[in-house]
Amino acid sequence: MQLFDTARQEVVPFEPRGGRVGIYVCGITPYDSAHLGHAFVYHVFDVLQRRFRDAGLGVRSVRNVTDVDDDILRVARERSVDFRELATEQVRMFDHDMAEIGLLPVDAAPRATEHVDEMVDLIAQLIDGGYAYAVDGWAFFDSGVYPDYGRLSRLDHTTMIELSRERGADPDDPRKRHALDFVLWQSSAPGEPSWPSPWGRGRPGWHIECTVMSTGALGHPIDIHGGGDDLIYPHHESEIAQAEAAGIAPYVRHWTHVAMVNHEGVKMSKSLGNLVFVRDLVARVPGAAVRLLLASHHYRESWAYDDAEVGAAAARHRRYLDAMQGGGTLSHEAAHRHEQRFFECLDDDLDTPGALNELDAIVEELSDGSGAARGTEGQQLLGRLLGVLGAETEAVPA
Ligand SMILES: [Zn+2]
Repeated sequence: MQLFDTARQEVVPFEPRGGRVGIYVCGITPYDSAHLGHAFVYHVFDVLQRRFRDAGLGVRSVRNVTDVDDDILRVARERSVDFRELATEQVRMFDHDMAEIGLLPVDAAPRATEHVDEMVDLIAQLIDGGYAYAVDGWAFFDSGVYPDYGRLSRLDHTTMIELSRERGADPDDPRKRHALDFVLWQSSAPGEPSWPSPWGRGRPGWHIECTVMSTGALGHPIDIHGGGDDLIYPHHESEIAQAEAAGIAPYVRHWTHVAMVNHEGVKMSKSLGNLVFVRDLVARVPGAAVRLLLASHHYRESWAYDDAEVGAAAARHRRYLDAMQGGGTLSHEAAHRHEQRFFECLDDDLDTPGALNELDAIVEELSDGSGAARGTEGQQLLGRLLGVLGAETEAVPA
């Protein structure tokens, strides 16, 4: 399979090692419902996983849960519930929504709060090695001693400072030695959850969580690590820096990033409030139709949500269903040709729109057929290929 690698900035062959692939995808911060932007990211890794499995590879998929952060604590306070209770409830709803659109369950879903001890150990190691420093109960990674900071995102220093400010960091924090130093450990405010550390009670920074949980679940190098493309900087940039500084190198073999879904002219995001929720879509159309909507967009191109596309995806799903249940046959040669092209598309940097075109062509040929045969090779092929896209036409058990 050929897959774009963010680090190399080109489509390169992805080479599995020993018949196995480890995939780590940055998961949710569970304080609100899953929206179409989440679904687009996670469906990509689900299709990847299904494609690898179909090719006979073993896959171990890991998607973490960032179950302690400012947003969860804020929402828990507003609702007067314990933050753990809020996280558990939101994770359950998220898993339900993802199952509704046919996502396979992940093999591991580590939660940040369950791995704080390992995070403390890794931060202590970074401080010992001169790559990090503690101030006032906080610990920061020292970007000044890691000259490669910016390698993944290929951003210049000024742009990184601007972006870090936009994305929640404070480059002007006077405790920092350099503007791009990032938080490894923060002191907890009164009433906030906290864990013991050599620097005082507090909680881990976001970046260190994923380095600990990804390598804890998969070792290193991790075959495929990814998420939304808004995570390239600073999240994944920082993960690489701290991992390599701690001797976890090479950290990742292949970085896969998924483009954003826009709505009302801007990126769909909780902070902007322009969300289309998965649960609202599956109340209107089958989950498999939502999958067809997602698959009709290439994962590296951002796109704007258009309600008319939901109807179009549902109509496509209906056509596939009719073709599977109706008559019509496909010659053995034609079936083989379509199957080959379908996989050529998927293996060409996960060209799911191209793969769908191939399914459309199968349906068209089936409808041209005069026979009333059911369960023919063409129909079976259509069912199998829909399964590789995670768009099985039968209900997926939750
Ligand atoms: Zn992450």
